[in-house]
Amino acid sequence: MRKITLSNGETVEVECLSCAITSGLIKPDGGVVIETDYFHAHQDVAYPIKGLIILASKRHIKSFDELNDEEKIDYINLLSKIRKAQRDVLGIEYVYYFYNEDTTHHFHMWMVPRYEWMHEFGRSVESIRPVLLHARNKMNNEENKLEVMRAIKALTRQLKVGTL
Ligand SMILES: [Zn+2]
Repeated sequence: MRKITLSNGETVEVECLSCAITSGLIKPDGGVVIETDYFHAHQDVAYPIKGLIILASKRHIKSFDELNDEEKIDYINLLSKIRKAQRDVLGIEYVYYFYNEDTTHHFHMWMVPRYEWMHEFGRSVESIRPVLLHARNKMNNEENKLEVMRAIKALTRQLKVGTL
């Protein structure tokens, strides 16, 4: 079991953070951006980067080759739908995708939009960690957080329209 402290200060013990989030036990700040029978998308606002999305499976699996046929189709459709919304609503030109199978949680893909300010941290994979740390440690001001929340709402709205 892992102890997780929620943003409201409450502490919960969960076996897997991804299970807790995708099942609705833990509600991410900003809410669910989109979900299907198999996947769940939200932003981790601890890393206040506009348009950053975490796409997690609902099933407790770790590796890509554990996805079943329905999940595979759902996954690529959802991933590209979210990507299109990032472009259409937030004007995001490039996204970095990060996913490691040896996670302590379960299957989840980070979709990290690429912004100008990130260039000083490198041009490829080497920039991911410093970019995330920079966001967490230096961009946690009210103004930026407000913008991040606004972006989440805009993406959520766009993705809702898209599924009607
Ligand atoms: Zn899990």
